[in-house]
Amino acid sequence: MTTSSREFVYGKFSDFYGDPSTIIPPPTLLGQRELGFLLLKERIMLRHKGFANIRDLKLFLGEAVPSDVYRSCAYYENPTVEMDKKGWLGADLVFDIDADHIPTSCDKLHDEWACSKCGFSGKGVTPEACPICESQKFNTKTWPCEVCLESAKEETAKLIDMLGKDFGFSDKEVSVFFSGHRGYHVHVENEAVKTLDAMARKEIVDYVSALGLSLLGGEAKGRSARRRRSRGFSLHNFGWNRRLKLGLRDFVLKATKEDLINAGVKRNYAVILRNKELILKRCIDEGRWSSVKGVSVGTWRKLAEYVKDLESAKIDTVVTTDTHRLIRMNGTLHGKTGLKKVEFPAKHLEDFDPFEEAVAFKEGTVKVVVSDVPKFRLGGRVLGPYKRQTVEVPTAAAVLLICKGRAEVAS
Ligand SMILES: [Zn+2]
Ligand SMILES: [Zn+2]
Repeated sequence: MTTSSREFVYGKFSDFYGDPSTIIPPPTLLGQRELGFLLLKERIMLRHKGFANIRDLKLFLGEAVPSDVYRSCAYYENPTVEMDKKGWLGADLVFDIDADHIPTSCDKLHDEWACSKCGFSGKGVTPEACPICESQKFNTKTWPCEVCLESAKEETAKLIDMLGKDFGFSDKEVSVFFSGHRGYHVHVENEAVKTLDAMARKEIVDYVSALGLSLLGGEAKGRSARRRRSRGFSLHNFGWNRRLKLGLRDFVLKATKEDLINAGVKRNYAVILRNKELILKRCIDEGRWSSVKGVSVGTWRKLAEYVKDLESAKIDTVVTTDTHRLIRMNGTLHGKTGLKKVEFPAKHLEDFDPFEEAVAFKEGTVKVVVSDVPKFRLGGRVLGPYKRQTVEVPTAAAVLLICKGRAEVAS
């Protein structure tokens, strides 16, 4: 980033935090939270900060001008002292759904990664470790693409559905946010979850991601297990049983030849396609899995495994189990986009438009030199694609392009 680009972004972030009309909704019990800031100019992280009220925090933000503002999911007696002396009182249950963890059809078009140790590079989702040298540090180039954000939204919808129907959390206890970059955050504030330890949170992670789901009995060995397996399985109307039942119903109803082949049914797909109505009624609704000739219990196991993957929610598991995690604060800017983290009602998830509702800079235009960017939509405008050209774009787009390393302010 050139000096003039850095100064431009600093100026915009400074205006945002200095503006008296900017609203930063404080988290529950702000005084018990640890706050952290990444400073825009100095590029250093300040941690272990605490604020008694939102007015003091706003004053600080106006002076310090951070690129990113974080607050703890945890509540502490003393949030500003070192970690093991803070006095942990509990933590909200948080989920992070990020396009970085969801393979999509377009990630190979706009995402790249390069190992920072050996330089090996590739396209699409960044691997956990470098296939050449096993280093876990990468330089990545990503884009908050509309298609990727739409798939993150679908994962979020599945998660919210589980939190309500399977765990019984009320709408009031579940808050949903756009992260400001490539995904969504879901927070649960409830007395029963507040003091859960990391192990208990891992159990919840396993549930929503269907890890170790055993009702299909595929793991057990021995003759009796084999006999049980061949008899099929029963799906009742709660939890994952219900999810698999509805998921199978939905899948079979809409399935094409290609869908069935993808699901591993390579030979007898025609029988399923010919007998959809009968199969839905006898097999799925009545649980008589082997009652349609040509569709075996084995086929149903394959389909159930496939549907399990479709119905599970792809979350970043590390975030949920960390009881000391700092997470971006609602109403603040994301340093990689200049978009705001914003909260919206869960029931508006489907209609929520991050490229409209998270826009912070709504006035003026700026001339920028763009290196390379796909076509994108922001604040009611469709822009790009641009490749090595100078263009005048709305301020929000200029901030986004510069923060993503795709453009510099034109001199
Ligand atoms: Zn490497
Ligand atoms: Zn994409």
